[in-house]
Amino acid sequence: MSSDKKVRVRFAPSPTGGLHLGGVRTALFNYLFAKHHNGEFILRIEDTDQTRFVPGAEEYIMECLAWCGLNPDESPNQPGNFGPYRQSERKPSYRKFAEELVEKGYAYYAFDTAEELEEQRKIHPNFRYAHDNRMSLRNSLSLEKEETERLLAEGAAHTIRIKMPENEVVSFNDMIRGRVSFETNLVDDKVLLKADGMPTYHLAVVVDDRAMEISHIFRGEEWLPSAPVHILLWEYLGWKDEMPNWAHLPLILKPDGNGKLSKRDGDRLGFPVYAMNWNDPKTGDLTTGFRERGFLPEAFVNMLALLGWNDGTEQELFDMDELIQKFSVERISKAGAKFDFEKAKWYNQEWIKRAPNTELLSEVKAVLEKHAVQTAEYGDDFVETILDLVKERLTYIEDFWEQASFFFQKPANYDIDAVKPKWNQDKTSFFNEVTDLFKDQSSWDAATLEPLFKQKIADSGMKMGELMMPFRIMLVGGKFGPDVFKIAEVLGKDEVIERIQLAVPKFQD
Ligand code: GLU
Repeated sequence: MSSDKKVRVRFAPSPTGGLHLGGVRTALFNYLFAKHHNGEFILRIEDTDQTRFVPGAEEYIMECLAWCGLNPDESPNQPGNFGPYRQSERKPSYRKFAEELVEKGYAYYAFDTAEELEEQRKIHPNFRYAHDNRMSLRNSLSLEKEETERLLAEGAAHTIRIKMPENEVVSFNDMIRGRVSFETNLVDDKVLLKADGMPTYHLAVVVDDRAMEISHIFRGEEWLPSAPVHILLWEYLGWKDEMPNWAHLPLILKPDGNGKLSKRDGDRLGFPVYAMNWNDPKTGDLTTGFRERGFLPEAFVNMLALLGWNDGTEQELFDMDELIQKFSVERISKAGAKFDFEKAKWYNQEWIKRAPNTELLSEVKAVLEKHAVQTAEYGDDFVETILDLVKERLTYIEDFWEQASFFFQKPANYDIDAVKPKWNQDKTSFFNEVTDLFKDQSSWDAATLEPLFKQKIADSGMKMGELMMPFRIMLVGGKFGPDVFKIAEVLGKDEVIERIQLAVPKFQD
């Protein structure tokens, strides 16, 4: 590739279902590379396999990219100069290249019917259509020229297959792996054009990557075995000098490192593997996604970026702009990256801490409303004050309820076991006096309450913890939550007094 060529990358998913986090990482790495080089990020829908098409999957992919902030410069919804961006709509553009390959002797017509091939598979369990058996099958290489012509004139159903060369080695420089070589004898004669006139992935991907002037390709490691076929097609079609640079991304591994992470692992171990909820229209099954599980897109993207990449320092938290600025292919590892859900949760915690309240407010309010809290009665400022107090305790926004419900309603239960065994008359008297003290209080904030309460403890001769903890449990219900005087400040004088008066009898009997 000449260095002055504009960087254009593509994310080319097939609309066959929900997006696995590995798929989103592929999109992300393409995006980061493009943006780092002021290039373009293209979304191309690879829907040539009509049998695998799933309604809703394309919309899902687009929504998912939007959620992650990976907005394509060109896509089916936002066409540029290289459309259409759905392969099914490009159908007429492929046949001529397949025919050209036949003419040049790099491909051939194959007339074998599905039944005939099935028969072969029965006889040879490891059957593949390849250089060592193609002359015994029914194709334009094995048949007489006239027979081929007759079949074509008759309109006999046929595919076009690549004629893999014998005893050759095909090599290329992978941006991550370095030099990779393949023996052509080990690769079968892949179908390029199907009987229905649709190209297969192999032909379409090469034709479109060229037509769309793609300069670099980041794709999953599972596509590496297809690379020799693609390289030969670039060569055979006379486009070798325009071939993009490839990078095959390392696998995302199961948490124990044994093999590729699958959707089943998520189901088994209780974590999401898809980016967003996916409702399978065929089975009716619902697969939970990171989004619905309560992940912020910033956290999801940050976590994905670090699955197989780092900037060479210990830094783990990056926002999109920083990722774009620091991303480099040299720092993508060759080895598979283990997925660690605990780490994913950590990223979410960190991103919730960093998120401005305004960004979280609507979701927090939704959590409250789910629990029948009329948020309008409280006002946004009140909710934001509480958010500031509990933010760093949240792994998910959902946790807001667990951490902060006591600000909106009196405790339904108390951690009685933590106070009752050590309760005595002195403590009852103490809290009765505190109530009187509070009643006389004109300024009501943590800075005033704390010294006041602590002085009262000192005067009583009891220990700090003996009274601080019950005070917290009176207000909160349990031994958790932010600074107790902050809680008292936010709850307000009347509410605090009410809660003390409500709890004391429960603690003493
Ligand atoms: N359509 C392929 C997929 O579903 C794209 C492979 C590639 O990027 O070349 O992943």
